[in-house]
Amino acid sequence: FERVRKTYGTAGTTAVQSLDLDIARGELMTLLGPSGSGKTTTLMMLAGFELPTEGRILLEGRDIAQTAPHRRGIGVVFQSYALFPHMTVAENVAFPLSVRGIGRSERQARVTRALDMVRLGGFGERRPAQLSGGQQQRVALARAMVFEPPIVLLDEPLGALDKALREEMQLEIRHIHQRLGVTMMYVTHDQAEALTLSDRIAVFEGGRIRQCADPKALYDRPADAFVAGFVGENN
Ligand code: ATP
Repeated sequence: FERVRKTYGTAGTTAVQSLDLDIARGELMTLLGPSGSGKTTTLMMLAGFELPTEGRILLEGRDIAQTAPHRRGIGVVFQSYALFPHMTVAENVAFPLSVRGIGRSERQARVTRALDMVRLGGFGERRPAQLSGGQQQRVALARAMVFEPPIVLLDEPLGALDKALREEMQLEIRHIHQRLGVTMMYVTHDQAEALTLSDRIAVFEGGRIRQCADPKALYDRPADAFVAGFVGENN
């Protein structure tokens, strides 16, 4: 992100401003901050669902302003997992492959791999309603990763889960990230989650990044009182 600003509407809210952010290949970058601080807007601009009002977003050095969302090589997971209730788990996971015109046998092989990755091998024929919340969120993760995108964006993916499940899924996401070397952008307002998961954390407040650093540096040497207060909460 280079000097990115996003204002909604003509005279609307400026959700993000003066945003400079570099994410390295294979990195797990967390956007951490209170509600309304601009995290989701940042993620949506990278995904291509929102356009920057000003500034540029570069992917491997190339401006992606004209690149449609499905051509960016990015998988997205949201808090509301938005599975299709009338489809089976396998059909849900296969959906991004069908959209991309990938043939049946290749599709089956990839769906099997993706479901195994989230430890849901054998659940392919169930419907979403027959799964727990954590299992449904795993299906959403499998669906975002089934076309093996080099980049995966996760927006509060564990927000709807209870504490125990959340901790289990944090480890799982960390594990998948390390094993596949995929680049991840992870949005959360949960300090403990950010400190557990991230290679680096960008702390947002009022649409700006207050500090971007690895968890230890952030915790040991917060740049200002806001970061110290926010990162230190609940710890
Ligand atoms: P949360 O943790 O609550 O999801 P966030 O940090 O992700 O918050 P954003 O969703 O990016 O924050 O919102 C940043 C600001 O932009 C807020 O003031 C919000 O009201 C505003 N905003 C977000 N989406 C829109 C929209 N589609 N139209 C107008 N304003 C919006």
